[in-house]
Amino acid sequence: MSKPGIPTIKFTKLFINNEFVDATSGKTFEVINPATGTVLAHVSEGDKADVNKAVAAASKAFSRNSPWRSMTAFERSQLMQKFADLVWEHRDYLAALESADNGKTYANAQGDIFASVATFRYYAGWCDKIKGTTINDDPKYVTYTQKEPIGVVGQIIPWNYPFLMLAWKWGPALATGCTIILKPAEQTPLSALFAASLIKEAGFPPGVINVIPGYGPTAGAAISEHPDIRKVAFTGSTEIGHIIMEAAAKTNLKRVSLELGGKSPLVIFDDCDVKKAAQIAHNAIFDNHGQSCCAGSRTFVQSGIYDEFVQHAKKLASQIKVGDPFDPTTQQGPQIDQDMLDKVIGLINSGKQEGAVVETGGERLGTKGYFVKPTVFSQVQDNMRIAKEEIFGPVQSILKFKTMDEVIDRANSTNYGLAAGIITQDIDKALLFAKSVEAGSVWINCYDAITPARPFGGFKNSGVGRELGEEGLKEYLEVKTIAIKVGI
Ligand code: ADP
Repeated sequence: MSKPGIPTIKFTKLFINNEFVDATSGKTFEVINPATGTVLAHVSEGDKADVNKAVAAASKAFSRNSPWRSMTAFERSQLMQKFADLVWEHRDYLAALESADNGKTYANAQGDIFASVATFRYYAGWCDKIKGTTINDDPKYVTYTQKEPIGVVGQIIPWNYPFLMLAWKWGPALATGCTIILKPAEQTPLSALFAASLIKEAGFPPGVINVIPGYGPTAGAAISEHPDIRKVAFTGSTEIGHIIMEAAAKTNLKRVSLELGGKSPLVIFDDCDVKKAAQIAHNAIFDNHGQSCCAGSRTFVQSGIYDEFVQHAKKLASQIKVGDPFDPTTQQGPQIDQDMLDKVIGLINSGKQEGAVVETGGERLGTKGYFVKPTVFSQVQDNMRIAKEEIFGPVQSILKFKTMDEVIDRANSTNYGLAAGIITQDIDKALLFAKSVEAGSVWINCYDAITPARPFGGFKNSGVGRELGEEGLKEYLEVKTIAIKVGI
């Protein structure tokens, strides 16, 4: 490929029943390039009328004896592999699209596409391994369970990892044989629309996958309230998670899985190699510009190494090269939009006002695009907003602790519970922490150790259900118990 840059945008319409179509209302919305603040594309704006059309297509695709329902698991798996092949073939284009749309560096976008292909292939392998059990509880019966696809599912995804979140949603939904209405985030619809074109090219029957770009309160709400959608899978803020669950409860009790926010602790004991620990902690918060639900956003450092650690953290953050996502030397691009820029700067200002010490950064970078200087705060106290609220930006909050008991209590004193990490040479400390911390993923001497095979999701307000791994399949399956009386 020639030097990467903003690619030609080929697909901007809704994708329903294997066709690209205008929104019923005829409306479009602007998609902004976060690196410049200028318009990248005009995309069709779906709303309730379009969701209804997509649900009709997905319901037909899921009907008894439809081509999709009549396929063997092996055939379904082959289709998924074919789709993964096409994504791989177009990986450079997709990475460029993602980078332009989201602002993440081209190299990071390439990493996301690679991880997405791994996810599709992992779940393709599951198609023919979904099994029930036999139950021998009564000699007069033969009883068995059968796992069946839930049916038409709605999937609402965020802007921070647009294509990877699509992969986490489509993988298990397709492997189990469901049909799909996906709503990408309004900030980042482009990679999902291109993926839709590959779905058609791969040969999926019409209606199996439908993509409806649009806004949350209109298109998103139409999905979570729809009476014929049997399950909604959502990744986004805890605030919207509440709304989705309420909509499901008020309508048809559709199944709900939610992957929400976090304020994840990474605890560093003074027996570690401080330089290595600082690097792990740095990546844990600054990856993807801090726009990650499982970001290690509370760095707890034991008192014996606190000052030395802060110096390493400051050096690493001040060396990050911020700028054009397509420049190969750039390590951090812009935040996603003006709202997020304002939120991050607002929280940075609150940290200053509440008495935390800015070691580096602490302000916006430039006036064009939505760039923030990588920021490190030391002397952070538990009651400060930067220690309690999800910032979703390149801001490291470093807190001091003395003992294991103290740090476990402080790590758990949040309503979130998505992830946690510990860095120590002491196996006993590591295991005690892993047992005690309230989090869906615990990483020991590493962070963000996520693969398609490892379940991911939150305790407490960080979510409901799990994605990835075998656990992720369960969210898309109903269990049917069949009892046969013998010898009547
Ligand atoms: P973030 O704060 O990361 O932008 P949101 O939770 O606002 O996260 O958005 C994540 C996804 O949820 C997006 O696709 C957005 O359009 C969608 N969304 C926002 N509001 C609603 C809503 N009321 N109902 C359904 N989906 C919504």
